[in-house]
Formats: sequence, C-alpha cells, structure tokens
Amino acid sequence: MTTTTEQKRIVILGGGESGAGAAILAKQKGFDVFLSDMGTLKPKFKELLSSHQIAWEEGKHTPELVLNAHEVIKSPGIPDKAPLVAQLRDMGVSIISEIEFAARYTTAKKICITGSNGKTTTTSLIYHMLQKAGLNVGLAGNIGQSFALQVAENNYDYYVIELSSFQLDGMFEFKADIAILLNITPDHLDRYDYKMQNYVDSKFRITRNLSDDNCFIFCSDDEVTVEQLKRIVLRAQQLPFSQQTKENQMAWLENEHVYINYDNSDFSMSVQDLALKGKHNIYNSMAAGIAGHVLKIRKDIIRESLADFQGVEHRLEHVIKVRGVQYINDSKATNVNSTWYALESMDTPVVWIAGGTDKGNDYSSLLELAKDKVKAIVCLGIDNSKIIKSFGDIVPVIIETRSAAAAVAEAYKLSQPGDTVLLSPACASFDLFENYEDRGRQFKDAVRQL
Ligand code: ADP
Repeated sequence: MTTTTEQKRIVILGGGESGAGAAILAKQKGFDVFLSDMGTLKPKFKELLSSHQIAWEEGKHTPELVLNAHEVIKSPGIPDKAPLVAQLRDMGVSIISEIEFAARYTTAKKICITGSNGKTTTTSLIYHMLQKAGLNVGLAGNIGQSFALQVAENNYDYYVIELSSFQLDGMFEFKADIAILLNITPDHLDRYDYKMQNYVDSKFRITRNLSDDNCFIFCSDDEVTVEQLKRIVLRAQQLPFSQQTKENQMAWLENEHVYINYDNSDFSMSVQDLALKGKHNIYNSMAAGIAGHVLKIRKDIIRESLADFQGVEHRLEHVIKVRGVQYINDSKATNVNSTWYALESMDTPVVWIAGGTDKGNDYSSLLELAKDKVKAIVCLGIDNSKIIKSFGDIVPVIIETRSAAAAVAEAYKLSQPGDTVLLSPACASFDLFENYEDRGRQFKDAVRQL
C-alpha cells in the first residue's frame, strides 16, 4: 500500500459479483472506495460491502459521489452510452473493467477465453484440465466468484478467465498469456452501433498487448476471425484449429479423430471419446486441448479431461429420458448460431422448444436443419410471430405456449419413443423468465414431473 493510492478514489458502478469483488480488492489496496448501483443490491453483497467498511448506494448514482472519482470500475452490464458514463468519459476519468483492475495485482498466468458462443463451456473445460493436472488454479470472469475477489483472497498461480466483449471493452493494459477466440457471429450489436466491425474489434481486444511469447488460439474455420487477422499485426504465436482442413493447423479433424500437433506432440483422440458432443464442442475441445499442450500438461491428463468433463448446466444438458424420449436443456442458446449447433448435433427426430425475446433474429440458417430434423415446434414466448412465419411452411406442427410447464406438456404429447425434446430457444428469456438459468430450471423441473 502506498500513500498515493490511499488518497485515490475509486468508484465502482454496478454492484453485482464483479463490482462487489472489485470493491473489496480496491479497499484492500488502500483506495477510497465507493460503490453505486442504479438498481437494488443483493443482500449478500450489501453484507459483504458493509463488513469491509465500503460505502455504497443503491437506486441512484449521486453525481457528487461519483464524479469525483480518479478511476471508475464499470460493470460490463452498463452501456458506454449511459449518461453518467459519457459524462465521466468527457471529464477524462479512466473507466475500466473489474478484470483490468484485478490483473494489476496478480502475476498469475492468465488463460483467457472469448467468442460469441462456447466461452463458458471452454473456460470450464480448461479449468477442469488444469485442476486435474494439479495446478493451483482459479476460475474467473463470468463464472462463479469474480476475478477481483479471488485476487484479493487467494494466491492462485493460474487463472482461467471467461471474457465477454463488454468486459474486453474495459480492458487496456491487460495482457493474457494464452488468448483464445472461439468464433465471432453477430450478437449484442445493439451495444456496437449495429456495426459488426465494432463487435469484431471488441472481441479482438483479447489480443491486445500479446507479445511473441504468448499464444493466440483461434478457429480458422471462422471467416470473420481469419479476415480480421489479415488486417492486424499480431506478435503472438498463432495456434489455429479447424474441422475443415489440416493444413497449417495446430488441431484438426481427420477420420473422426481430433489431432493436435504442438511441438511434435502427435496427440490424437477419437471424437467418440470426447465428453462433449456436437460439432461445436469439437471446436471447444480442440481449443482446450491446444491450451493444455501450451501449458505442458501431460497428454494422458489432457485426454482424460476431454473424456470425463461433466459439461455445464443449461448447455446441451441431458436432463432425463421419459418414455424413451430424451429431454435436453440448452436454455443458454440465446442466439441463432448456438441453436444451429444444437440442432446440428441432433441425430433423432426433434420436438424443438424455441422462442422468447427476439434480438433481431434471422432464422434462415436454421431452415434446412429444421426441415431435416424437427417434427414439431413448441413456441415458448410472448410474441412468436417471427418463428411461425419463418418455419410455418417447413415444420408440420407449430404450437404456442407461455410457460415452461405448458411447453413440456405439449412436447410430451408431440413426441414418441426415440425422439428428442430440445429446449434451444435461439432467443433471450426475459419475456417470460428472470434469465436463461430460470428458464432452464423451470424446464427441468417440468420434465422431472412428467
Ligand atoms: P457462452 O459462454 O459464450 O455464451 P456457452 O458455453 O455458455 O457459451 O454456450 C452457449 C450456447 O452456445 C450453448 O447453447 C451451446 O450449446 C452453444 N455453443 C457452445 N460452444 C459453441 C461453439 N463453439 N460454437 C457455437 N455454439 C456453441
């Protein structure tokens, strides 16, 4: 702790997991800390802040308590265009994310994962691998406890960190050791002036400050990523993976086997043995496998981790079989691309539960899969007109429901032994549910009651 930091005021905007963690770390480092949230703080965070003697407010941002900040740590949920944020920026106040702040106080190796889809799955898979390898590792980012709180309270040697584009937008000096970019498909464009390039630039912030001893792991089947790579100068070692070609790849697919050749490692593993199923998960497993190699984890540990990973709740999660029908919860599929991968991975007739809050969806990429695999659609949303219009001519049965229980009851009637009932909404959940977790849990509860 230095005398200069003692006088510096840090204001934290947003008091969720990351804000509360940042407040605790900032307090520990001797700053004058204030946390302000426009909404209501969860009781557990109020208690946590108070027990650390951190001042906070809720339901408002009091200008005189916020605008005197030397630095602001902003929750990724608050858009840059929020008037107070714009005002702070005009005043020249540095506005950073909790990840940027926390990284100043740790020398641990950071394995960072971003992408439009697959972040949580791949982050959890790599964490599982590092744990299995016996490394002293923390899991951070959008999952579990905040990075800042862990930096304050633990002494990990490694962190596996999931990074959203909103977090990346608040990162400037942060330097990953291993950066992984899984894919880039349109999402959250409302926060990027509806310009795809702005979103692409945001995702590529994961490569900021990488030097030649760092690695950049990416999917070379992803055209957006490959195009952007042609435009930028990247000093890191590039480690691509692909399912379409083996040329120049660090990981590739051949004869239903994943191959990884890092430093002549000559690693191969049957797709059948991968714990995570589906084409998208082959990508995720490849990314994790390459990261494991870079970290010099033993091949048998890498293999074992890819084979016995339990998966993450709400991501193609197999719930149970009822009367020969498999029920799958993919509630986290909140955009068209992730639903594409879910449908792609189905190998039985599907009763597809879809719908919710439409984020400007274009369903055309799903038409062919729906035609081949979907026998009925059960809409689960308030306004289902776009789904009905898009699939009306292709899928013989489409019905509308407004609760998870009703959707499951209808799907039960429409399915027969050998089918799959797939909840993969391609939409956000906020019209009928608190969030995607709530939607997934209500779905699972209803299935278990069949
Ligand atoms: P994120 O954290 O990026 O939202 P998740 O791992 O939570 O990603 O998965 C979100 C959804 O995307 C799930 O429905 C999952 O089946 C699907 N998905 C997972 N990995 C990929 C991938 N590599 N490409 C496309 N979709 C994916």
